[in-house]
Amino acid sequence: MKSSNIYERFSQTFRQHPSLSRFLVVFAVSGGGLVAYSEGNILSSSPKIDELPEAGNKKKRVVVLGTGWAGTSFLKNLKNSSYDVQVVSPRNYFAFTPLLPSVTVGTVEARSVVEPIRNIVKKKNVNVNFLEAECYKIDAKNKKVYCRSTQDEKEEFIVDYDYLVVAMGARVNTFNTPGVEENCLYLKEVEDALKIRRSVIDCFEKASLPNVSEDERKRMLQFVVVGGGPTGVEFAAELHDFVSEDLVRLYPAVKDFVKISLLEATDHILNMFDKRITAFAEEKFHRDGIDLRTGSMVVKVTDKEISTKEIKTGKISSIPYGMAVWSTGIATRPVVMDFMKQIGQANRRVLATDEWLRVEGTNSIYALGDCATINQRKVMEDISSIFKKADKDNSGTLTVKEFQEALDDICDRYPQVQLYLKNKKMSNLVDLLKESKGDVAKESIALNVEEFKSALSQVDSQMKNLPATAQVAAQQGSYLADCFNRMDECEKHPEGPLRFRESGRHRFRPFRYKHLGQFAPLGGEQTAAQLPGDWVSIGHSTQWLWYSVYASKQVSWRTRSLVVSDWMRRFIFGRDSSQI
Ligand code: FAD
Ligand code: MG
Repeated sequence: MKSSNIYERFSQTFRQHPSLSRFLVVFAVSGGGLVAYSEGNILSSSPKIDELPEAGNKKKRVVVLGTGWAGTSFLKNLKNSSYDVQVVSPRNYFAFTPLLPSVTVGTVEARSVVEPIRNIVKKKNVNVNFLEAECYKIDAKNKKVYCRSTQDEKEEFIVDYDYLVVAMGARVNTFNTPGVEENCLYLKEVEDALKIRRSVIDCFEKASLPNVSEDERKRMLQFVVVGGGPTGVEFAAELHDFVSEDLVRLYPAVKDFVKISLLEATDHILNMFDKRITAFAEEKFHRDGIDLRTGSMVVKVTDKEISTKEIKTGKISSIPYGMAVWSTGIATRPVVMDFMKQIGQANRRVLATDEWLRVEGTNSIYALGDCATINQRKVMEDISSIFKKADKDNSGTLTVKEFQEALDDICDRYPQVQLYLKNKKMSNLVDLLKESKGDVAKESIALNVEEFKSALSQVDSQMKNLPATAQVAAQQGSYLADCFNRMDECEKHPEGPLRFRESGRHRFRPFRYKHLGQFAPLGGEQTAAQLPGDWVSIGHSTQWLWYSVYASKQVSWRTRSLVVSDWMRRFIFGRDSSQI
């Protein structure tokens, strides 16, 4: 039929040219509505594999483990077609984790925050093949990864690699607290958020049945959130909004029994934020009637009770609960632990890489995101080599001129030096030397190795581990992709800092994290933000900033339009409380 032909042609045009969608979205919004459309050009799935054949035509094979923030950012930014890329992950989609707390109560729908990985990588000129499986063993010696399909537990296969990119994220840390695994819900994956959504409604429906005693009703509607970090706080705020904006109207008979408690072992929630934000959040939760218990550590969980210990007094008390969400941080996955043992990192808690994201103790394995941490080299470990390299005339003393010439390389290789100067409000290293030499004329400063050591003795105290956030993971992914894109070029013309302990230069500049700020949504259309330069902003206007940043950060125009339409739907109709 003619009309269906027109429709099909129209739809095909958009599927083949996804960028056109932005015009459709803009057009539809200006027309007063929002059109969501299907962008999915489903790729034919790869044949069943037992053992993956080697890459043909001598292309180097890159195996990427994980399709989270780090892995996806790497894949999106990889542009060099000289690689054969195999992606292994138990989930065939990317999930926009910052919106997971909104998914738990239906402010945003689950499908609005995910994008199929095949969709993300399909536009590339790079050959990328996706395998839905989990890696259960890394064999660094023979350059192989062992994988198990998530479809059929028995199907296992091996993939060889030339380069391995480990971006497997982390698992929930229960601190081995008894009963947590069996009785608490987590908030880490999309499935977790959906489970929470069902569980909240379950509690309300169960509590509304006729033969339930008052005590039972109270227990069922006691919601406990364990962990006062950004995720726990945001979830508690979302749950409070859901209850006070939507559920109280639908469950008037039980509304007075609802209680939300937030347990935090340290003295304050949102510890990583500015004190003003912490104070505002605590005060707001107090006003909202959220029962905030700081200094309270969970020691045991049973199916109906949570036991806590007051840190100060050691007093044990218990809270009967209907639903508990555990959100206290992350730990290393068992497969990564096993890999760490193989490569001599058994005594570490997290997989360590160098500043180029290469796993220490290997030469072709990279690790990024939540599963790894950068082990920044200390200045003091290399101080004699730095001195020797900088002392070009081998006089045994460093002059200001010699020092200035080595300065850029020193700051590039050891970012803590720059940080130290910044914190001490010094404009350059010469000021540092002057400080250690007293008030001498600048030109006549000359340091021997001992004086040099004492001038730089404090700089290593500035080293900090990067936080386990999407921002860090995404920046690391695009940094590593950039290195892979220019591997040959930089092999010939190294652009990194001087090698202080050996000759020549490093191929690449080390990874440098750029902090763009962090949000803490607090419910009631209020958000706190800590922006670069310790700029703090709190309130309703910051919530609008949050909306615009999170809309702009979506991985595709499809998810962007879905998320924005979900927000609009929620404003107009409220959240959906159907138990499906
Ligand atoms: P992940 O994104 O967790 O991805 C890991 C990937 O590895 C997944 O695809 C997983 O399926 C896969 N995988 C797992 N096991 C295997 C295996 N055995 N083999 C192969 N693949 C495997 N950060 C922010 O910066 N801002 C925020 O607002 C924010 N909010 C958050 C809210 C929530 C609810 C959560 C849970 C996290 C939030 N984060 C936020 C943190 C952020 O999500 C993580 O830091 C980020 O996801 C880390 O990226 P990653 O790629 O290392 O790991
Ligand atoms: Mg000299």
